[in-house]
Amino acid sequence: MPFKFLIMEDFIVSARKYRPSTFLSVVGQQALVTTLKNAITSNHLAHAYLFCGPRGVGKTTCARIFAKTINCQNRTAEGEACNVCESCVAFNEQRSYNIHELDAASNNSVEDIRLLIEKVRIPPQIGKYSVFIIDEVHMLSQAAFNAFLKTLEEPPAHALFILATTEKHKIIPTILSRCQIYDFNRIGVADTVAHLQFVASQEGITAEPEALGVIAQKSDGGMRDALSIFDQVVSFCGSTVSYADVIANLNVLDYDYYFRVIDAAQAGNAPEAMMIFNEILTKGFDGGHFVSGIAAHLRDVLVCRDPQTLPLLEVGASIGEKYQRQAAVCSEDFLYPALKITNQTDLDYRISKNKRLLVEIMLIRLCQLSDKKKNELTADEDILSVLQPVFDAVEEKAVAVQPAISPQPAVRQTPPSASRPAMPRISINNIAKPEEAVASAVAGTGKRNEVFDEATLQRHWRTFAVQLPKEEIHLLNTMQKSLPKLSAATVFEVTVHNPYQEKILNEIRSRLMPFLAECLRNDFVEMNIVVDEVQEEERVMLPKDIFNGLAESNPVFKRFVSEFGLEIA
Ligand SMILES: [Zn+2]
Repeated sequence: MPFKFLIMEDFIVSARKYRPSTFLSVVGQQALVTTLKNAITSNHLAHAYLFCGPRGVGKTTCARIFAKTINCQNRTAEGEACNVCESCVAFNEQRSYNIHELDAASNNSVEDIRLLIEKVRIPPQIGKYSVFIIDEVHMLSQAAFNAFLKTLEEPPAHALFILATTEKHKIIPTILSRCQIYDFNRIGVADTVAHLQFVASQEGITAEPEALGVIAQKSDGGMRDALSIFDQVVSFCGSTVSYADVIANLNVLDYDYYFRVIDAAQAGNAPEAMMIFNEILTKGFDGGHFVSGIAAHLRDVLVCRDPQTLPLLEVGASIGEKYQRQAAVCSEDFLYPALKITNQTDLDYRISKNKRLLVEIMLIRLCQLSDKKKNELTADEDILSVLQPVFDAVEEKAVAVQPAISPQPAVRQTPPSASRPAMPRISINNIAKPEEAVASAVAGTGKRNEVFDEATLQRHWRTFAVQLPKEEIHLLNTMQKSLPKLSAATVFEVTVHNPYQEKILNEIRSRLMPFLAECLRNDFVEMNIVVDEVQEEERVMLPKDIFNGLAESNPVFKRFVSEFGLEIA
């Protein structure tokens, strides 16, 4: 197809063809460019500059413009190069002798630096300055660094160095202290979209703003990447770049899925949400990608709720309206817990053995957050109510005889609800001190120190776990799996299998320990957490067990399993 081939020929070099040649045309680095221009117009030039920032955001481009501008024989009043004088023309045709570039990524030996240093001594023929650009300067070997340092300390008046790096932390302090440092930002989505729109119009390409928005997001703040993705898309789409083509070509999940999932959650429609997720998996997208995507989506909806945070939304205008519409119907009571749930699922995803189920439980919980569901919550549809009998059975009715648990509504954590079955809940703060505690108090300290055994400790441990609020259901996995073992009279050990589990256990320590102290009537009880990563293989994740429990006692979940062909592996 000659037409497409022609387009490719034109576009393969977008990043080079549309490389800015003046400060004015540099995209997304306004503040920094203004400072550079001021330095030039006021003649306050340093001998060495360090340009830091991510790849493809314009460091080398700005270095070249800077070199050209300080050598221009006829600078404009705005401090820009004239682009017509002899020096400028030589620069633009890439044959100027006033600029020397060294890519330290591939030329990082002492010998490479020696060659460069020799050039530094030679004064320029035309113009005032010889500019030496060292790209990826952090890649220089130690010996090369040392050889270069001397020149950097006492450079000839005509020499000016611009060092560029993506990894500022790797630059030694002796170099840092001799340079003026400029930090380049990632380029914002709006700036990238505007520039892509400009390039498209120059090339006679029609592009939907949403399509360019996806490219901009995919490029993660780098203009060079954005332009090369744009090239790739154009070579595929031809002269019309649509949103649908771009997401198909770049394998990006359509925003629309996220809007639909949240709509389903708002309606409390769990089957719908699970079917949408099924559709996403069928299309070959990864579940983890979906989870982080839905979390990011909720964040975007949240920033839309407040005019103050609205600028944080980095999407195209027409999709922006869609976000605002969804934000108008999502209350903060929905969004905050929803963010927490999705973020937690994101964290749990990597270590989960049944990833699909983990995501599905996330969706069910999102659906339970809707106002509709909250108002008409029934025992059949509340995960915890369903879980309760399962774990009560595990407790072997022990719950009922615990001194710490009162079946009276007065200590229930949740407000009474007509449709909700009465269920004993622990209120950790309101536990009445058992009489026996006083008797067993250690003389003089007022502290209790009753003897307890491992089985009793484990029983109270499980009781704490099953009474955790919905938002912390992930802890249930860890607590059920890692039962405490006594290592001394009042000290027990809990073995977990990774630092994440250790972290979440530590987070509830301040609630768990007082609870155990109350139940055991012992104020000396101590917990040691041991991380044993060797046993990783043996870990069994609980979601499967949870879901088996759900399916067992709840027809709704049983229906999901059969109707949607869920894998409960
Ligand atoms: Zn000029």
